[in-house]
Amino acid sequence: MDKKTDILTMYLPELEEYFCSIGEKSFRAKQIFEWLHTKRVFDFSKMTNISTQLKTTLEKDFCINKLNILKKLESRVDDTVKYLYGLNDCQAVEAVLMKHNHGNSLCISTQVGCKMGCSFCASTKAGFVRNLSPSEMLMQLYQSEDDSKRKVNSIVLMGIGEPLDNYDNVIRFLYILRDGAGMSLRNVSLSTCGIVPKIYELAKLKLGVTLSVSLHCANDDGRSKIMPINTKYSLLELMQACKDYFKETGRRISFEYSLIDGVNDDYKSASQLIGLLKGFPCHVNLIPINPIKERNFKKSKSSKNFQKALTDAGINATIRRTLGQDIQAACGQLRAEEILINNNA
Ligand code: SAH
Repeated sequence: MDKKTDILTMYLPELEEYFCSIGEKSFRAKQIFEWLHTKRVFDFSKMTNISTQLKTTLEKDFCINKLNILKKLESRVDDTVKYLYGLNDCQAVEAVLMKHNHGNSLCISTQVGCKMGCSFCASTKAGFVRNLSPSEMLMQLYQSEDDSKRKVNSIVLMGIGEPLDNYDNVIRFLYILRDGAGMSLRNVSLSTCGIVPKIYELAKLKLGVTLSVSLHCANDDGRSKIMPINTKYSLLELMQACKDYFKETGRRISFEYSLIDGVNDDYKSASQLIGLLKGFPCHVNLIPINPIKERNFKKSKSSKNFQKALTDAGINATIRRTLGQDIQAACGQLRAEEILINNNA
């Protein structure tokens, strides 16, 4: 078992404290922080302004955990690249790099597997394994940028896992992303199935992060059937938390609504959604459901009508472009396939 501290998860003041404790000047902390998060050098021996003696001490006290690219799939129809990253304990997670008019965005994972049990989602089918550390989240960004030679302009926490179920690590990741990698947190979206108490906590931090709430159904009975979290926090509680988030941060909420044929795409569903959101400053992202093997869910045929009903009622709604369709870019699909291959091997 490695007793060394994972240096990529450390805040600058924590590094300063460490250097003071070993009798070094505190400016060393800034140097190391920059080597790691700005210059992206993950080998102490290559940090040129650090003495050989100090490098040896750092190697003794710290580790720098890199990810392994197990698979890389590049779309032939758009510029989407999907990475399957291997972790130190042989687990794997996915990150997806997408090209938009405004630049590149990276969708990263926050957990290995997921506990939330949403019935349409591939990430949750094999259950939950563990939380990702802040460094494992940062490395998805650093290694995707390095491998693709593309600069990532925005990050969406929409890969495998529920970010608010790994709250402390996600918050640490966000602070280091801002202070180390220099990314404005206004360029980060955090997607949640609706863990209400954590939405209130996040709001208090006023980080500027866009909150994306996976709604998928606007009545409690229907939502509880496809999203078990709804049995714990009702739509009323969820909407109160969203209103608080807007009040505290001034950031419009983005609601995700995956349209499933015959489940949540009829006129009644649209009116319920309008009833729920009318007058609230938000955006609705309509997502064509990505059918998964385990469930017989089909893409809706009425997404255009659904969108029109919302916009006619004054609710801002767009249909999400599907990227990387030829490379299984949907949440958790690649990891699920890898588990299947390994189990059959
Ligand atoms: N746990 C978080 C983030 C991960 S999922 C959440 O629930 O928001 C990212 C988004 O993809 C969520 O809106 C999720 O509901 C949606 N999603 C999952 N599986 C999907 C599928 N098969 N088709 C379309 N959207 C899906």
